[in-house]
Amino acid sequence: MAIAPFKLRCRYCNQPVDWPPAGPRCPRPSCRGPLQPKRNIIFDVGLIEPALHGMWRYRHMLPPLPVHPVTLGEGGSPLLAVPDSRARVYFKNESLNPTGSFKDRGAALLINTIGDARVVIDDSSGNAGAALAAYAARAGVAARIYAPKDAPAAKIQQILHYGAQVILVPGNRDKVRVAAEQGSQQDNVFYASHVHHPGYSLAMQTIAWEIWEQLGRRAPDAVIMPAGNGSLLRGVRWGFRSLQKGKAIPKLPRLYAVQAAHCAPLLAFSQGAYRVNEFEALPTVADGVAIPNPPLLDAMWAAVRKTQGAVIVAPEEDILPARDALTAMGFFVEPTAALSYVAWLQIRHTFDPDQTVVLILTGHGFKTN
Ligand SMILES: [Zn+2]
Repeated sequence: MAIAPFKLRCRYCNQPVDWPPAGPRCPRPSCRGPLQPKRNIIFDVGLIEPALHGMWRYRHMLPPLPVHPVTLGEGGSPLLAVPDSRARVYFKNESLNPTGSFKDRGAALLINTIGDARVVIDDSSGNAGAALAAYAARAGVAARIYAPKDAPAAKIQQILHYGAQVILVPGNRDKVRVAAEQGSQQDNVFYASHVHHPGYSLAMQTIAWEIWEQLGRRAPDAVIMPAGNGSLLRGVRWGFRSLQKGKAIPKLPRLYAVQAAHCAPLLAFSQGAYRVNEFEALPTVADGVAIPNPPLLDAMWAAVRKTQGAVIVAPEEDILPARDALTAMGFFVEPTAALSYVAWLQIRHTFDPDQTVVLILTGHGFKTN
């Protein structure tokens, strides 16, 4: 039994779209807006498959997928309590997914929606590309990843190890996306956009559902996570909202989106100071969120604002020390993942000891040198 019929709609023009969508964005050429579920998914604990581990235990609350999905065992990451005098702090360690980041959930969902396509493509500077390459290898289809010329070498190597083709594109991230969109205009090619495809954020709901189960069927007071293109932020919000709609939680946790101070378009957007063609970013060691022009800023800001959360920026000089502090606790994560901890250190004085906060650690330290 699944939530059926599952429908999408365009966030901008309300155009209804069937699942799975033919492309990642609104089919109307004059719109091309982002797609999202037509109705809230209502969480129902009775739909959990208790015998399944990881993401697929929630398969009946995800869009319709094959009975025997392609999987590498994604999801089911540990939620671990860490000592803190200020609040009940937990790390949700997404670095333990099959390719070392939370992106595996999105790639796993998308690889099961490609139909007859023989080639999957995405534009990515790292983790999303590695995830798609791995799931393509598992499914026996080809992967082509468009990446910026300055993408981290370790992440490109990981993509190549899975047998994917990597096309390095000079210029900024927008040029990489345009190259990928042009490359998707061929037969048998599926554009598995981790930025635009709604399946990606739908998969991220499972992080919220796992946290709820792991905390003994309750929500934390706050969740802190890095935010680049916003698929994690949007998906975690959808997940907790579905729990609220299903009356499993009384209210949503506050969602804190963390960006690097050198590249913080969401902060600028939240202050009404963002101009797409004028926004300037500096290089940051948090390469996973080095995205100056995320296309879904309004949706990202809504996720923060409607949960009474906040946008937090991490000073560049704080990021590697936070990474090192996490490593000293036994958690070897990439610099982008350490943004959650930088943010926690900034806001922990606002918490009470009886409050619960979850920090999402997004990617493994093996991914960077
Ligand atoms: Zn539209």
